[in-house]
Amino acid sequence: MIPEKADIIIKHATIVTQNDRREILDDGAIAICEGRIAALCPTKEILARYSAEEVLDLSDHIVFPGLINNHNHLFQVSTKGLGEDMPVQDWVEVVTAPTAIHIRPEEMYIFCLAGCLEAIHCGVTTVVDMSYRAQRYEMHENNIRAMLDSGLRGRYTTIISDFGVEYGVLPALISPYSWFIEQYARLHAQYPATDRMAVWLAIGAPWTITDEGLAATIEYANATRTPITMHINENGVDNQISQERHGINMVPYLETVGFLRPDLLAIHNVVTDQADIELYRKYDVKISYNPVSNMYLGSGIPPMVEMYQAGLKIGIGTDGAGSNNAPDMLESMKVAALLQKVAARDASVIDAQTILDWATRDAARSIWLEEEIGSLEVGKRADLFAVRLNSSKIVPVHDPVASLVYSCGEQNVVLTIADGRILMKDGVVQHLDEETILRQCQISATLLADRCGSNAKVTRRWRPGRMY
Ligand SMILES: [Zn+2]
Repeated sequence: MIPEKADIIIKHATIVTQNDRREILDDGAIAICEGRIAALCPTKEILARYSAEEVLDLSDHIVFPGLINNHNHLFQVSTKGLGEDMPVQDWVEVVTAPTAIHIRPEEMYIFCLAGCLEAIHCGVTTVVDMSYRAQRYEMHENNIRAMLDSGLRGRYTTIISDFGVEYGVLPALISPYSWFIEQYARLHAQYPATDRMAVWLAIGAPWTITDEGLAATIEYANATRTPITMHINENGVDNQISQERHGINMVPYLETVGFLRPDLLAIHNVVTDQADIELYRKYDVKISYNPVSNMYLGSGIPPMVEMYQAGLKIGIGTDGAGSNNAPDMLESMKVAALLQKVAARDASVIDAQTILDWATRDAARSIWLEEEIGSLEVGKRADLFAVRLNSSKIVPVHDPVASLVYSCGEQNVVLTIADGRILMKDGVVQHLDEETILRQCQISATLLADRCGSNAKVTRRWRPGRMY
């Protein structure tokens, strides 16, 4: 029998499939053809059926479905180390908003690409990105080009904001809502949705948009069947402002205007009560849990266990580097578990398997891609990563899922494949000059911080002169 041709064969691996039965294969193999998983079974069977030029022997490795980061602001890579230890309002006004205003198009590309490199090293294969610098169209193009060049699967969103100066939104980030809708129409014409890349609608927060702008966004979403994502109830401000503007809390208000819907991805949900959860359940709203960011900004602890018990579809996000400093999904998974245990003062309130579900198969449901990604199964896209059992950080392994969630670090991830393409092998990114990109990132970030530095609160203790 002549073997069938595959593009890549992975053999002799322990494979955590994340399928419905959560099967883990020992000495498993995967044949990848044209970006999809053509076969997944014991190594002996794959080698009898397939041949490939690229055969990866992963004898001492564990393979997982690619992690899905369902909330990030890639360009915020530039702010790592600038916004430490500030109250949230200062953080917005003196770090993230000025950065967004002063950033230049060519810098947007470098920062976003550096953010994607970090994702690849952490086993991430899908990123939902939210930009908020829309004043020049090429900003979008450079952001999306970086995501495409990285090889990751991406969802690009950019914030619509026509309101909020009285609540601290910088005027430079505000335009009439009709202008944003025009930008979106152009983006959708230029980037029709594919499995690899799609453009979604985004709103920064409910208090950064007028009622008319919100209505227009909903109308555009309905007409184009485009998902929407928004930060909701990151802290107590949303309800406070909603009470001022509308006389009711934020989530009940959003119901009255038809904003709650199955294709809404709600980010943060820290200040979420039982009534909010019931509304989310009623409308099948999807959830993004960003534990490191919630801790970094002192926002609080979202009631994830309650939302999970209500049947909501949950994914994990790192949020941007501005409120995380290390948008590392492995770290975020561990913190995601620990934070809920602390909140409940009960270590049994959540387990490693649920956390891995939130980073893979449930995350895929949270971004409407469960037919394509989120588990390793025949017919699905070949998005995966492998950790090598070669360091004291992870050895010994008794339970691969617990080891990934609680023990693993970026240094253990040696292989990342997205859409059937090897992005990183033996810990080395294959298709990008990482050293050059990181050098450019450092130089650009320093110059950008200088341009933002007119605000006295942006201060640095060290300037990397040797990089020039
Ligand atoms: Zn965010």
